[in-house]
Amino acid sequence: MLRIIACQRCQLVKIHAIQTGKVRVKQFQLTGAKHNLSRIWQIFLTQKWSHWFPIYCWLIEHPVGLFLVDVGETAKVHESGYLPDSAVFRAVVQFDMLREDEIDQQLGQLGFTTDQITAIFLTHLHTDHIGGMGHFPGKPVYASKTDYNVAISPKGSGSGFIKKNWPHWFNPNLIEFDDPAEGVFPSSKKMTEDGSIVAIPTPGHSPGHVSYIVHTEDVRYVLAGDVTYNIATLLDGVPNVVLNTATAMESVAKLRHYVLASPSVVLTSHDPDVPRILEHKHVVVGG
Ligand SMILES: [Zn+2]
Repeated sequence: MLRIIACQRCQLVKIHAIQTGKVRVKQFQLTGAKHNLSRIWQIFLTQKWSHWFPIYCWLIEHPVGLFLVDVGETAKVHESGYLPDSAVFRAVVQFDMLREDEIDQQLGQLGFTTDQITAIFLTHLHTDHIGGMGHFPGKPVYASKTDYNVAISPKGSGSGFIKKNWPHWFNPNLIEFDDPAEGVFPSSKKMTEDGSIVAIPTPGHSPGHVSYIVHTEDVRYVLAGDVTYNIATLLDGVPNVVLNTATAMESVAKLRHYVLASPSVVLTSHDPDVPRILEHKHVVVGG
Protein backbone atom coordinates (compact mmCIF):
# COMPACT_ATOMS: atom_id res chain seq x y z
CA MET A 1 0.00 0.00 0.00
CA LEU A 2 2.67 2.48 1.08
CA ARG A 3 4.88 1.54 -1.82
CA ILE A 4 2.10 2.33 -4.28
CA ILE A 5 1.49 5.75 -2.73
CA ALA A 6 5.21 6.55 -2.81
CA CYS A 7 5.44 5.50 -6.42
CA GLN A 8 2.52 7.70 -7.40
CA ARG A 9 4.19 10.66 -5.73
CA CYS A 10 7.39 9.95 -7.61
CA GLN A 11 5.44 10.04 -10.88
CA LEU A 12 3.93 13.36 -9.94
CA VAL A 13 7.15 15.30 -9.34
CA LYS A 14 8.47 16.68 -12.59
CA ILE A 15 11.13 19.30 -13.13
CA HIS A 16 11.33 21.41 -16.28
CA ALA A 17 14.35 23.50 -17.27
CA ILE A 18 13.21 26.86 -18.61
CA GLN A 19 15.75 28.85 -20.60
CA THR A 20 15.41 32.62 -20.50
CA GLY A 21 18.07 33.95 -22.87
CA LYS A 22 21.83 33.72 -22.71
CA VAL A 23 24.73 35.11 -20.69
CA ARG A 24 28.50 35.15 -21.00
CA VAL A 25 31.33 36.01 -18.65
CA LYS A 26 35.08 36.39 -18.98
CA GLN A 27 36.81 33.10 -19.71
CA PHE A 28 39.05 33.24 -16.63
CA GLN A 29 35.98 33.07 -14.37
CA LEU A 30 35.20 29.58 -15.64
CA THR A 31 38.58 27.95 -15.28
CA GLY A 32 42.00 29.48 -14.70
CA ALA A 33 43.31 32.36 -12.55
CA LYS A 34 43.05 30.86 -9.10
CA HIS A 35 44.66 33.94 -7.51
CA ASN A 36 42.56 37.02 -7.03
CA LEU A 37 45.28 39.47 -8.08
CA SER A 38 45.39 37.80 -11.47
CA ARG A 39 41.58 37.73 -11.61
CA ILE A 40 41.35 41.46 -10.88
CA TRP A 41 43.79 42.23 -13.72
CA GLN A 42 41.95 39.97 -16.13
CA ILE A 43 38.56 41.54 -15.44
CA PHE A 44 39.74 44.63 -17.27
CA LEU A 45 42.62 43.45 -19.46
CA THR A 46 41.31 40.39 -21.23
CA GLN A 47 38.66 40.50 -23.90
CA LYS A 48 38.39 36.72 -23.88
CA TRP A 49 34.70 36.11 -23.32
CA SER A 50 33.32 32.64 -22.70
CA HIS A 51 30.79 31.01 -25.00
CA TRP A 52 27.21 32.10 -24.54
CA PHE A 53 25.57 30.07 -21.79
CA PRO A 54 21.86 29.47 -21.16
CA ILE A 55 20.13 31.22 -18.28
CA TYR A 56 18.00 28.53 -16.67
CA CYS A 57 15.26 28.66 -14.11
CA TRP A 58 13.08 25.74 -13.06
CA LEU A 59 9.45 24.73 -12.92
CA ILE A 60 8.68 22.04 -10.33
CA GLU A 61 5.42 20.19 -10.89
CA HIS A 62 4.72 18.85 -7.43
CA PRO A 63 1.70 17.27 -5.71
CA VAL A 64 1.31 20.34 -3.49
CA GLY A 65 1.73 23.01 -6.17
CA LEU A 66 3.59 24.47 -9.09
CA PHE A 67 6.82 26.09 -7.97
CA LEU A 68 9.40 28.16 -9.80
CA VAL A 69 13.00 28.24 -8.71
CA ASP A 70 14.20 31.62 -10.04
CA VAL A 71 12.44 33.55 -12.81
CA GLY A 72 15.28 34.21 -15.26
CA GLU A 73 16.21 37.40 -17.08
CA THR A 74 14.20 40.08 -18.86
CA ALA A 75 14.76 41.62 -22.30
CA LYS A 76 14.91 45.00 -20.52
CA VAL A 77 18.63 44.32 -20.04
CA HIS A 78 19.05 45.80 -23.52
CA GLU A 79 17.28 49.06 -22.56
CA SER A 80 19.55 51.93 -21.73
CA GLY A 81 19.90 52.51 -17.97
CA TYR A 82 18.45 49.13 -16.92
CA LEU A 83 21.80 47.56 -16.01
CA PRO A 84 24.42 49.45 -13.98
CA ASP A 85 26.69 51.57 -16.13
CA SER A 86 29.78 50.58 -14.16
CA ALA A 87 33.12 49.54 -15.64
CA VAL A 88 33.22 46.37 -13.51
CA PHE A 89 29.70 45.25 -14.45
CA ARG A 90 30.36 45.80 -18.15
CA ALA A 91 33.67 43.95 -17.86
CA VAL A 92 32.34 40.77 -16.26
CA VAL A 93 28.96 39.94 -17.79
CA GLN A 94 26.92 40.32 -21.01
CA PHE A 95 23.39 39.20 -21.89
CA ASP A 96 21.57 38.15 -25.04
CA MET A 97 17.78 38.26 -24.53
CA LEU A 98 14.66 38.63 -26.64
CA ARG A 99 11.17 39.40 -25.32
CA GLU A 100 10.03 35.90 -26.29
CA ASP A 101 12.81 34.42 -24.14
CA GLU A 102 11.17 35.74 -20.97
CA ILE A 103 9.61 33.31 -18.51
CA ASP A 104 5.94 34.10 -19.18
CA GLN A 105 6.33 33.10 -22.81
CA GLN A 106 8.51 30.11 -21.97
CA LEU A 107 5.93 28.85 -19.45
CA GLY A 108 3.32 29.25 -22.19
CA GLN A 109 5.37 27.01 -24.47
CA LEU A 110 5.18 24.33 -21.76
CA GLY A 111 1.39 24.78 -21.49
CA PHE A 112 1.34 26.78 -18.24
CA THR A 113 0.32 30.33 -17.36
CA THR A 114 1.98 32.63 -14.82
CA ASP A 115 -1.31 32.61 -12.82
CA GLN A 116 -0.94 28.90 -12.14
CA ILE A 117 2.30 29.33 -10.19
CA THR A 118 1.91 28.59 -6.46
CA ALA A 119 5.12 30.21 -5.21
CA ILE A 120 8.58 31.31 -6.33
CA PHE A 121 11.79 30.26 -4.59
CA LEU A 122 14.86 32.38 -5.41
CA THR A 123 18.43 31.10 -5.28
CA HIS A 124 19.75 34.66 -5.10
CA LEU A 125 18.93 38.18 -6.19
CA HIS A 126 21.21 38.68 -9.21
CA THR A 127 19.48 40.11 -12.28
CA ASP A 128 19.49 36.90 -14.35
CA HIS A 129 17.61 35.07 -11.57
CA ILE A 130 15.09 37.75 -10.61
CA GLY A 131 14.73 39.73 -13.88
CA GLY A 132 11.42 38.04 -14.82
CA MET A 133 9.76 38.83 -11.46
CA GLY A 134 7.52 41.49 -13.04
CA HIS A 135 5.40 38.69 -14.55
CA PHE A 136 4.28 37.44 -11.12
CA PRO A 137 2.60 40.29 -9.21
CA GLY A 138 1.18 39.14 -5.88
CA LYS A 139 2.68 35.66 -5.97
CA PRO A 140 4.38 34.43 -2.78
CA VAL A 141 8.14 34.76 -3.16
CA TYR A 142 10.82 33.27 -0.90
CA ALA A 143 14.36 34.69 -0.88
CA SER A 144 17.52 34.57 1.20
CA LYS A 145 17.31 36.89 4.19
CA THR A 146 21.05 37.55 3.92
CA ASP A 147 20.92 38.50 0.23
CA TYR A 148 17.85 40.67 0.76
CA ASN A 149 19.42 42.56 3.65
CA VAL A 150 22.61 43.19 1.68
CA ALA A 151 20.61 44.20 -1.41
CA ILE A 152 18.67 46.90 0.46
CA SER A 153 21.81 48.16 2.25
CA PRO A 154 24.33 50.68 0.87
CA LYS A 155 26.51 47.67 -0.08
CA GLY A 156 23.79 46.34 -2.41
CA SER A 157 24.94 47.67 -5.77
CA GLY A 158 28.59 46.73 -5.06
CA SER A 159 27.40 43.18 -4.41
CA GLY A 160 25.73 42.87 -7.82
CA PHE A 161 22.15 43.55 -6.69
CA ILE A 162 20.03 46.02 -8.68
CA LYS A 163 17.22 46.97 -6.31
CA LYS A 164 15.83 49.72 -8.59
CA ASN A 165 14.73 47.00 -11.06
CA TRP A 166 12.61 45.10 -8.52
CA PRO A 167 8.84 45.36 -9.01
CA HIS A 168 7.32 47.88 -6.57
CA TRP A 169 5.30 45.08 -4.91
CA PHE A 170 8.38 42.88 -4.33
CA ASN A 171 8.38 41.93 -0.64
CA PRO A 172 9.71 38.38 -0.34
CA ASN A 173 9.32 36.01 2.60
CA LEU A 174 12.84 35.83 3.99
CA ILE A 175 14.41 32.41 4.43
CA GLU A 176 16.14 31.59 7.70
CA PHE A 177 17.60 28.16 8.21
CA ASP A 178 15.87 27.00 11.39
CA ASP A 179 14.93 23.45 10.34
CA PRO A 180 17.07 20.32 10.94
CA ALA A 181 20.24 19.26 9.14
CA GLU A 182 20.10 18.19 5.50
CA GLY A 183 23.04 15.84 4.99
CA VAL A 184 26.28 17.77 5.62
CA PHE A 185 24.37 21.04 5.87
CA PRO A 186 23.78 21.60 9.60
CA SER A 187 20.51 23.46 9.08
CA SER A 188 17.90 23.83 6.36
CA LYS A 189 14.46 25.28 5.64
CA LYS A 190 11.47 23.18 4.64
CA MET A 191 9.75 24.84 1.68
CA THR A 192 6.84 22.39 1.65
CA GLU A 193 5.08 21.02 4.69
CA ASP A 194 6.12 17.45 3.94
CA GLY A 195 9.79 18.48 3.65
CA SER A 196 10.13 17.15 0.13
CA ILE A 197 11.45 20.54 -1.04
CA VAL A 198 14.15 21.95 1.21
CA ALA A 199 16.37 25.04 1.07
CA ILE A 200 20.03 24.82 2.11
CA PRO A 201 22.55 27.64 2.63
CA THR A 202 25.25 27.75 -0.07
CA PRO A 203 26.76 31.26 0.33
CA GLY A 204 29.66 32.61 -1.69
CA HIS A 205 28.46 33.41 -5.20
CA SER A 206 26.21 35.89 -3.41
CA PRO A 207 26.33 36.57 0.34
CA GLY A 208 23.23 34.46 1.05
CA HIS A 209 22.96 32.18 -1.98
CA VAL A 210 20.42 29.37 -1.44
CA SER A 211 20.17 25.97 -3.16
CA TYR A 212 17.02 23.86 -3.23
CA ILE A 213 16.68 20.10 -2.85
CA VAL A 214 13.69 18.26 -4.31
CA HIS A 215 13.38 14.79 -2.80
CA THR A 216 11.71 12.12 -4.92
CA GLU A 217 11.37 8.39 -4.46
CA ASP A 218 14.55 7.42 -6.31
CA VAL A 219 16.77 10.50 -6.53
CA ARG A 220 17.10 13.97 -5.13
CA TYR A 221 17.32 16.94 -7.45
CA VAL A 222 19.84 19.56 -6.38
CA LEU A 223 18.94 22.95 -7.84
CA ALA A 224 22.28 24.55 -7.19
CA GLY A 225 21.85 27.97 -8.83
CA ASP A 226 25.24 29.60 -9.24
CA VAL A 227 27.22 27.71 -6.60
CA THR A 228 29.32 26.33 -9.48
CA TYR A 229 29.06 26.12 -13.30
CA ASN A 230 28.46 22.46 -13.99
CA ILE A 231 29.10 18.96 -12.67
CA ALA A 232 32.79 18.94 -13.68
CA THR A 233 33.46 22.19 -11.80
CA LEU A 234 31.46 20.90 -8.82
CA LEU A 235 33.70 17.84 -8.63
CA ASP A 236 36.82 20.02 -9.10
CA GLY A 237 35.70 22.42 -6.35
CA VAL A 238 35.52 25.49 -8.64
CA PRO A 239 32.99 28.12 -7.51
CA ASN A 240 31.04 30.47 -9.82
CA VAL A 241 32.54 33.79 -8.70
CA VAL A 242 34.30 36.86 -10.04
CA LEU A 243 36.74 36.79 -7.13
CA ASN A 244 37.45 33.61 -5.15
CA THR A 245 36.44 33.60 -1.50
CA ALA A 246 36.86 31.00 1.22
CA THR A 247 33.06 30.98 1.68
CA ALA A 248 32.42 30.19 -2.00
CA MET A 249 35.01 27.38 -1.98
CA GLU A 250 33.55 25.94 1.20
CA SER A 251 30.02 25.87 -0.26
CA VAL A 252 31.21 24.01 -3.37
CA ALA A 253 33.13 21.49 -1.22
CA LYS A 254 30.11 20.93 1.02
CA LEU A 255 27.75 20.53 -1.92
CA ARG A 256 30.14 18.05 -3.56
CA HIS A 257 30.13 16.01 -0.36
CA TYR A 258 26.32 16.21 -0.22
CA VAL A 259 25.70 15.05 -3.81
CA LEU A 260 28.16 12.16 -3.57
CA ALA A 261 26.47 10.84 -0.40
CA SER A 262 23.20 9.85 -2.10
CA PRO A 263 21.95 9.64 -5.72
CA SER A 264 21.67 13.28 -6.82
CA VAL A 265 20.73 14.96 -10.09
CA VAL A 266 22.57 18.30 -10.09
CA LEU A 267 21.09 21.22 -12.00
CA THR A 268 23.02 24.49 -12.20
CA SER A 269 21.72 27.70 -13.73
CA HIS A 270 24.07 28.01 -16.72
CA ASP A 271 25.02 24.46 -17.68
CA PRO A 272 24.22 23.73 -21.38
CA ASP A 273 24.12 20.03 -20.49
CA VAL A 274 21.01 20.45 -18.32
CA PRO A 275 18.42 19.15 -20.84
CA ARG A 276 20.39 15.90 -21.21
CA ILE A 277 20.92 15.61 -17.44
CA LEU A 278 17.17 15.96 -16.86
CA GLU A 279 16.14 13.67 -19.70
CA HIS A 280 18.39 10.84 -18.51
CA LYS A 281 18.08 11.65 -14.80
CA HIS A 282 21.87 11.68 -14.75
CA VAL A 283 23.19 11.05 -11.25
CA VAL A 284 26.55 12.55 -10.26
CA VAL A 285 29.25 9.98 -9.60
CA GLY A 286 32.55 10.94 -7.95
CA GLY A 287 35.77 10.93 -9.95
ZN1 LIG B 1 24.44 35.11 -9.86
